[in-house]
Amino acid sequence: MVGTGAVPFADILGQEAAVTTLTRALAAGRVHHAYRFEGPPGVGKELTAFALAQSLVCEQGGPEACGRCGACRRAVTLNSDDPRVPLHPDVVLLGRGLYRGLLGGSSTEATGISVEQVRRIVLSRVGFPPHEGRALVFIVREADEITVQAANALLKTLEEPHERTHFVLLTSRPSRLLDTIRSRSLPVRFGPLPERVVREILQRRELDPDVALLAQGSVSLALELADPEARAERDAFVTTALAALGAPDLAPSLKLAEGQKGDRDGLRAALAFFAQAIAGEARTLVTTSPDDALKRALQHRTVLEAMRDVERNVQPALALEAMFVRLRNA
Ligand SMILES: [Zn+2]
Repeated sequence: MVGTGAVPFADILGQEAAVTTLTRALAAGRVHHAYRFEGPPGVGKELTAFALAQSLVCEQGGPEACGRCGACRRAVTLNSDDPRVPLHPDVVLLGRGLYRGLLGGSSTEATGISVEQVRRIVLSRVGFPPHEGRALVFIVREADEITVQAANALLKTLEEPHERTHFVLLTSRPSRLLDTIRSRSLPVRFGPLPERVVREILQRRELDPDVALLAQGSVSLALELADPEARAERDAFVTTALAALGAPDLAPSLKLAEGQKGDRDGLRAALAFFAQAIAGEARTLVTTSPDDALKRALQHRTVLEAMRDVERNVQPALALEAMFVRLRNA
């Protein structure tokens, strides 16, 4: 999550293994030409990609970014108008819909990273040296959304990269990445963040650190959970879901499932609260009714699984339907 300001590697919390891999490669002058950052949403993949890009374009020429020079600042500062891309001309961002204004609202631009985007934004640049001298870095958001046609257009470049040209492909759904892209990139894995790290990030932003408990190691989920405006909506979801669970038949559950519009972060946050409500019931039942407490514990696990399904791109309505069927059979 860049915007303004410095993002040296030292600011990236909880991803020591990934950061060490990259800082060692920088120090040795052996930065791979195509990395693939894999890991759940909201754990720092994009931030780390920008720290790497910054280090590659920094005017100081050291192995790691100084974080203060003009190149470092522009590498991580996004244009305030569309397209919302870095001000530095050698740090190039790709992503679904990012260049809609420039490329027109073609249907492939809306559903994936289109071949037009690859041609206009990547292929038009790769044959030329970096504008400002040091390196040319392409950062691809949700690289699993590259269309087959776009991937084919990119393959030769990924295979025989030009000097000082680097790609960083980000994905939270590595299993959906095209094999042709996977085989031409080097994986760097990002895990869920430790709870204390999520807590610290929330505190720095003056947000409620206690939602870290529910955030499954994801800062994007934590920020959604800490959003007071979304709170009322989530509370309503939990009330409806608990009522559906106790209803004599599946109808209210299906109604709730079908009403999901497809806002994944919002649904994950709502499910996190639902899971917490069920865990709370399990704790109160543990002395009075151990059997019911066990049932609640199993249900809690089912809700966490549904959260992961939503994260993995299972259609929200389907994920919820499956969850309610399992919950009612628990
Ligand atoms: Zn610098």
